[in-house]
Amino acid sequence: MAAPNCGYDYESGCKSEMTANTPRDFAQEDLAPIRESVRALCADFPGEYWRRLDRERAYPEEFVTALTKAGFLAALIPEEYGGSGLTMTAAAAIMEEIQASGCNGAACHAQMYTMGTLLRHGSAEQKKRYLPAIARGELRLQAFGVTEPTSGTDTLSLRTTAMRDGDHYIVNGQKIWTSRAEHSDLMLLLARTTPREQTTSRTAGLTVFLVDMRAARGNGLTIRPIRTMMNHATTEVFFENLRVPADGVIGREGEGFRYILSGMNAERILIAAECIGDAKWFIEKATAYAGERVVFGRPIGQNQGIQFPIARAYIGMRAAELMVREAAALYEAGRDCGAEANMAKHLAAEASWAAADMCVQTHGGFGFAEEFDIERKFRETRLYTVAPISTNLVLSYIAEHVLGLPRSY
Ligand SMILES: Cc1cc2nc3c(=O)[nH]c(=O)nc-3n(C[C@H](O)[C@H](O)[C@H](O)COP(=O)(O)OP(=O)(O)OC[C@H]3O[C@@H](n4cnc5c(N)ncnc54)[C@H](O)[C@@H]3O)c2cc1C
Repeated sequence: MAAPNCGYDYESGCKSEMTANTPRDFAQEDLAPIRESVRALCADFPGEYWRRLDRERAYPEEFVTALTKAGFLAALIPEEYGGSGLTMTAAAAIMEEIQASGCNGAACHAQMYTMGTLLRHGSAEQKKRYLPAIARGELRLQAFGVTEPTSGTDTLSLRTTAMRDGDHYIVNGQKIWTSRAEHSDLMLLLARTTPREQTTSRTAGLTVFLVDMRAARGNGLTIRPIRTMMNHATTEVFFENLRVPADGVIGREGEGFRYILSGMNAERILIAAECIGDAKWFIEKATAYAGERVVFGRPIGQNQGIQFPIARAYIGMRAAELMVREAAALYEAGRDCGAEANMAKHLAAEASWAAADMCVQTHGGFGFAEEFDIERKFRETRLYTVAPISTNLVLSYIAEHVLGLPRSY
């Protein structure tokens, strides 16, 4: 498909004449080979592949295996543990290209960032045991068990408990929306180890465990898939007297909330990058169609009523992209990027959703036809204003932590 005539080169990545002279774009230019490799891999997984899986609500096993073998999912694992040791900017470029190619990185994106909790807070022995195997693709750490049905966004109210019993903990409770649990060997689990009323601070008493799901399934761990509006392999997970070895505790008992929070900036940045990729896919589709589709004797794209929404979506995407790059640059410089990671996720999720809506409108009736892939991507990108953090909670974060307004909850 021809690149849209808007100074934007979709084939070579996210470079534009308008910004090519800024220092940060030189860093982006170095990523061109990675972007091209991701695109080449994704070309083997065209729309028909995703449509079939979507109909069957099946997991993209071949796609995830290909990404793993190519080393892309180990982008953030340091070289000493067998990973690629790439920067956050490079990891974001990988996720963006997956989405911009029409694929769905949600099938495996957690593999990239959940390991960060293990890397930063795990013991030397845990890192040695798990990280090389994850990097080689022998172990999948894709399940992240935080959200519960009753507590929702209020993580500190979660009810799953883990009680010490000799050299084990006994876990009881339930998680919901634990995505990819059926396709993961390991789960990062947040559970309460000290009753709330016995803790010294609001955030204490929660502990992170690395649970070996292979041993646990059928022995106190039950996984039930949840069908959703898109193909997302999400589940609810039940713990009934599940015995987890004490050496599965990551970091110190009772400090798990802090460890989970420390991984959230990476999660937000990578998912924001996915949204940028989605937005690019929708804008490219809409631009091409607007140029080709002739109604009333002229291309629909000649009408400003069609042009302007596409241009507006493009502007929104570009603005969000800048914030994603800012957040990634701060992250890799080791600086605090909480505000930027949240703002990037917010802007990018809004941009991808606006682009999705615009793309359907531009295509008229064909926007609803399965074979155009637009309705599928429309459903897939809708998630990101809700998860992994919903819009209101991002706004709340900015209001409180950036603007200094009183905490509202
Ligand atoms: C497909 C999918 C996959 C997911 N994958 C995972 C996963 O792998 N692991 C995991 O742990 N979780 C996962 N989640 C959970 C996700 O992070 C939560 O759904 C999300 O954080 C919102 O929480 P909730 O659904 O409990 O909504 P609730 O907390 O019940 O909130 C409902 C609505 O009320 C708003 N709201 C709540 N409190 C306030 C307030 N104080 N001020 C203003 N507005 C408020 C929220 O913004 C939201 O719009 C997934 C969710 C989905 C749908």
